[in-house]
Amino acid sequence: MDIDRAKQEVDLLNYIESTTGKTFKSVGNGTYRASNCPICDSTNGFNVNLNPSNSNYPLWKCFKSGKGGSIIDFILEYEGLDIKTATKRVIELAGGSIEPMKREQTSNSKKSNNKDYSSLTEKYYSNVDDMIDYFKVRGISKKLIDKYKLGYDSKYNGITLPVYKGDKVVFITKRLLDNNKMKYYNEGSPAPFNIDILADKEVKDIFITEGIFDALSLEELGYKAIATNSTSNIDKFFKEYKDQLKEKNVFIAVDNDVSNDKIKDILKLSNVNMFFNSSLNI
Ligand SMILES: [Zn+2]
Repeated sequence: MDIDRAKQEVDLLNYIESTTGKTFKSVGNGTYRASNCPICDSTNGFNVNLNPSNSNYPLWKCFKSGKGGSIIDFILEYEGLDIKTATKRVIELAGGSIEPMKREQTSNSKKSNNKDYSSLTEKYYSNVDDMIDYFKVRGISKKLIDKYKLGYDSKYNGITLPVYKGDKVVFITKRLLDNNKMKYYNEGSPAPFNIDILADKEVKDIFITEGIFDALSLEELGYKAIATNSTSNIDKFFKEYKDQLKEKNVFIAVDNDVSNDKIKDILKLSNVNMFFNSSLNI
């Protein structure tokens, strides 16, 4: 795959959200804004435009430094990699991704991810014994480690969290443990964790979280939880699964920095309640 194609295919917004942990808010026309720049932390604003008129791939821009560009430019700035390594990573990311370049198309399409990460999951799971202490500190029991086949990737020094759909692993996110700026590295296109419980008629109460660790913590406490795996995905998630969600009592557990107006349409639904993670103490 050539690099121009790869720049179009990687979901820039998902990539920036999942690697930096920043929260973006839609401001219309395919543009998403974070109040803090992930690179320089300025509060002047930071935009991601998925549909720019002057480019055939998504662009980002920091309003303090004036810097911006493609996903490659972002990786160069944020992670300080050299151009060769950054290019390689973007092509790799595009190869593992089947999401079409336009977000609008993505939310409407029912296209399923055909890639199966089961054997990678097994490989990482076989290393999990080295990380038992880490899981213990985070309050995750051996029972859940075995249930989801949580694991460890020594190449990235990251905890691996597989996402299943049916009996297939459709996506793996890695929580990187090195103390660098990059927090997550994804294999495949982000998909909701534990989505299969939506179809379970016995399950009445469902928590919706952003991150997988929050969903796992809730499960340790005896609740059922789905993780959307990205803040900007909450809206998309509700649109896509609204019929199934109508049948449930839904509890949304989000970080304190998620604004109410971002999910105001969701909150109008009578079966939905919202909690902040700080009040849940997870
Ligand atoms: Zn900046």
